[in-house]
Amino acid sequence: MRTRFFLPILLLIAAPAFSQETIDSTAIAFIKAETMERGQVMETALWLTDIHGPRLTGSLQLDAAQMWAQQRFESWGISAELQPWGTFGRGWAIERFSLNATASGSGIAMHTFPVMAFPKAWSPSTGNITAEVIHIDMEDDDALAALSGQLGDKIVLLTGEEEVDLGFEGIASRHDDDTLLDMANAGASSQSRRSYSPEVIARYRARQARLTQIYNEHPLAILEGSTMGGTGSIRVMGATVPMPEGADFMNRPSPWQVGVEAVPQFVVETEHYNRVLRLLDAGQNVSVALDFEVSWTLDEVVEENVIAEIPGIDPQVGDEVVMLGAHLDSWHGGTGATDNASGSSVVMEAARALQAFYDERGQGPRRTIRFALWTGEEQGIYGSTAYVNERYATLGGFGEPATAIGPEHDLLSAYYNLDNGTGRIRGVYMQRNSEVAPIFRAWLDAFGDEESRTLTISNTSGTDHLPFDAAGLPGFQFIQDPMAYFSQTWHGTMDTYDHLSEEDLEQAAAVMAVFAHQTSERDERMPRKALELAQPEQLGSAGLDAGEVLGHGHEH
Ligand SMILES: [Zn+2]
Repeated sequence: MRTRFFLPILLLIAAPAFSQETIDSTAIAFIKAETMERGQVMETALWLTDIHGPRLTGSLQLDAAQMWAQQRFESWGISAELQPWGTFGRGWAIERFSLNATASGSGIAMHTFPVMAFPKAWSPSTGNITAEVIHIDMEDDDALAALSGQLGDKIVLLTGEEEVDLGFEGIASRHDDDTLLDMANAGASSQSRRSYSPEVIARYRARQARLTQIYNEHPLAILEGSTMGGTGSIRVMGATVPMPEGADFMNRPSPWQVGVEAVPQFVVETEHYNRVLRLLDAGQNVSVALDFEVSWTLDEVVEENVIAEIPGIDPQVGDEVVMLGAHLDSWHGGTGATDNASGSSVVMEAARALQAFYDERGQGPRRTIRFALWTGEEQGIYGSTAYVNERYATLGGFGEPATAIGPEHDLLSAYYNLDNGTGRIRGVYMQRNSEVAPIFRAWLDAFGDEESRTLTISNTSGTDHLPFDAAGLPGFQFIQDPMAYFSQTWHGTMDTYDHLSEEDLEQAAAVMAVFAHQTSERDERMPRKALELAQPEQLGSAGLDAGEVLGHGHEH
């Protein structure tokens, strides 16, 4: 029965301008019903967040999440494995943490108040300590020099007073027609690799030198204000380790590395941080009581990506591959819900819906469809870069171009990534690959969602499609509605299951599954941009994180 059902229904929809694209409307209808009427994406997301979150690279929590994801794929009849990508460093977890401040001064009764704060990842334990706090103006070398030798028994406040948003603007949003039109009309930004002016690099190095001066005095702890004033959320990532004099960007020390001992660091909620600063400015004394204990796992953790696949059946192109991916690792403030349990759950849900469709039609996809849940993304896109390096091209590192072609370069048709929060898919960033435009247009038209039609030629950066793009392979991140991603949840303590939108994630799973199926069923591989291999000596500063240099938050 099944064979008869498949062939007659396959309709050739002669799309007007670009009718070469064969549209499988049976698959599209099935996939939309499977993800939107029989969806399981929220159940997957709950397990990855409330139960196995957060999923910091190197941590036991991430191990558990990976094993659960592998079993979940297998429960759907999809083979899955954990593929090691390399030695990451030390695993870290918080065992206990509290921070209280006590203010005293002439004419006021001493009083204590709890302070909302969160430890930066890979900060070492402080135990139970109480110490005086002191504020250091990082731009004032004289003040810094005057304090030299006096920081060893202090807790240092490193940043200034933060602006608090009174909240007249809503914190969540969706792209409106104007924004999408601007994106659609955007030109191809010529610059693909990020580079920095000598002034920016000099300012960055000067700041690193001041940080080194402070860190070398081994203050008991360092506190910084969260950059999320007014939201109650605390944006927290990894402990900062100053870049030593003359070190190059690619090999600077990281707090998860064996032998690197960071100063204990904590990010304080804006309003609480500003109050302590103002108390000091008002001439009051402030001391802080910290109780902080962490556990470290193995000295060095071999990290893995979760790789699952539905094998291709076509004798001609069956060993060619279409990939869907998202990073599974997260920062540790919340449960890593919108960054990136959302993308990981959507990739898994797309896999489930595709397998259900192939079971229904009794025939697998033409090309192999592979699903990747990467790790090490937040620390430098490590897992996906290692994957591309092993198979498709020799890359020079984070955001660096390829210097050589790998053994399987011909076999990958396209890679699709999801890592911009919980928002629905509104279209695709085409990474300056204009030849895919008529193909994506035909698919989005056939998908039939008026809200998901935008194609922009421009790039987007900072996530796991980059290594594929750098290898000269079609690698794309979808355009998603912003929701409250950068305004509240991204790398924050409020990044929890509560901020996931079921309807949006279901739509995203359907779009990703349809893109994978359509790519798999094409006669041709997806068109590629011309690839210019770089000479090894050309590689260098791209490893530097824009946010760090330009003094604002990380990328994705
Ligand atoms: Zn992310």
